[in-house]
Amino acid sequence: MISQDGIVDIAEYCPSPNFDERPSNAVIDLIVIHAISLPSGCYNTRLIKDLFLNCLDPGEDQYLGSIKDLKVSSHFLITRKGLLIQFVPTDKRAWHAGISTYKGRDNCNDFSIGIELEGCDEEEFEQQQYHSLSRLINFLCIDLQINKQNIVGHSDIAPGRKTDPGPFFDWTLLQSIL
Ligand SMILES: [Zn+2]
Repeated sequence: MISQDGIVDIAEYCPSPNFDERPSNAVIDLIVIHAISLPSGCYNTRLIKDLFLNCLDPGEDQYLGSIKDLKVSSHFLITRKGLLIQFVPTDKRAWHAGISTYKGRDNCNDFSIGIELEGCDEEEFEQQQYHSLSRLINFLCIDLQINKQNIVGHSDIAPGRKTDPGPFFDWTLLQSIL
């Protein structure tokens, strides 16, 4: 269930400061699926959390150093083990999509829910991630009345700029278990 304040009760809640209000007339009708791993190809949920909480310590890693000051977030993250973490209430605007367009509408953050899967472009996702994702999507579609056809990848709304969730994300499998 999703509570009045936009928190899903099956998620671990880790509030991120990186959000703001949606436009007053916004209707949430899109789910955007992403993939993230920090550093790329390494599975370390703590670093993803730290990025979304603005406390990423880059250490010696150049890539982490280049992103540590980004102000980004997503509503949800699903770890390799299928654990669901929520960072931003569903009614607020998370900062996940960037410059983006869906069916002629810009700024997809205004009207979407962002879900990050821990993963990368070079590797398959875990079965438990698909199960956790389908459970979450079912919650969201019921509670927010989002059409199950309106599920896209980040690469669909920011082509040429973003490649996630990448070629190994199994859209057919997801549709089959929704
Ligand atoms: Zn993305």
